[in-house]
Amino acid sequence: MAKKITECKERYCCLPQDLQILELKKAVGLNRFQLEKLDRFCKHCGQEFEYYRYMDAAGSMDWDYRPKKAV
Ligand SMILES: [Zn+2]
Repeated sequence: MAKKITECKERYCCLPQDLQILELKKAVGLNRFQLEKLDRFCKHCGQEFEYYRYMDAAGSMDWDYRPKKAV
């Protein structure tokens, strides 16, 4: 049987899978569309992100998270 190994990769944080909901209290009872709009933070570096909508190249509305300005 092949040996199991752990592969370590170095990468930048703040990828979508690193972002968590900033205020979990606000998430109670929301559907997934409402959840998308909640602010996030990166669980590795603590950077906060906000939800925003934008027009993509094809002219349709899309959304993403962008870093909040440092206060
Ligand atoms: Zn980060």
